[in-house]
Amino acid sequence: MTQNEALDLFRRSGALLEGHFKLTSGLHSDRYMQSALVLQYPDLAEALGAALAERTRHLQPTAVLSPALGGIVIGQEVARALGVRALFAERQEGALTLRRGFSLSNADRVLVVEDVLTTGGSTRETAAVATAAGAQVVGAAAIVDRGKDAARLNLPLQALIQLDVPTYDPAACPLCAAGQPVVKPGSR
Ligand SMILES: [Zn+2]
Repeated sequence: MTQNEALDLFRRSGALLEGHFKLTSGLHSDRYMQSALVLQYPDLAEALGAALAERTRHLQPTAVLSPALGGIVIGQEVARALGVRALFAERQEGALTLRRGFSLSNADRVLVVEDVLTTGGSTRETAAVATAAGAQVVGAAAIVDRGKDAARLNLPLQALIQLDVPTYDPAACPLCAAGQPVVKPGSR
C-alpha cells in the first residue's frame, strides 16, 4: 500500500480533518488525522494492518503491544496479519500499565503499534512497558507518522503515511493568535 493509497482511505472516510486542533501532545495544528473514522470500517482496518504487517514481518515479532485506546484496533489487525498476540497497555493513575492478565516474557519480541505518532512519547512509553516486563522491543509501527525525525524513537519505525504537518506550541500558535477557537478532536 502506497502513501497515496493510505491517504485516500482517510479522505474517503472523512478521517482527515482541517481546522484548529489541540493534539494529545498538547501542541496545536491545522490538520488532524482522526484514524478512528477510517478504522470503523473493518475491511479498511484489516487492509491497513496487513500493510503494516508486511513491512514489519522481518523483525519477527512474537507480540504486538499498543497503547489504549487509539492503538487497539490497528494493533489487533497488525497482529492478525502477523499471526501473533495483540496486547494493549492502558493508563492507571497516569502511567501506562499491562492489566487484564496480559503478560510478556523475555522470550517475547514486541512490536509497538499505534494509530498516529506525533512526538513519539506514547510509543516510547509503551515500549518501556514491554521492556519492564522483560521483553525485547524490536520496532514500532504506525498508520500515520506526523513527526519529522524518524530516528527519535531509537527503534526501527514503519509508517504508511508520513505527514509533516506543522505543529505549534500554544503560546506561538498562529491560529490561536487569529482568535480561532481550538478543538480537542474526538471530545465532542
Ligand atoms: Zn492554537
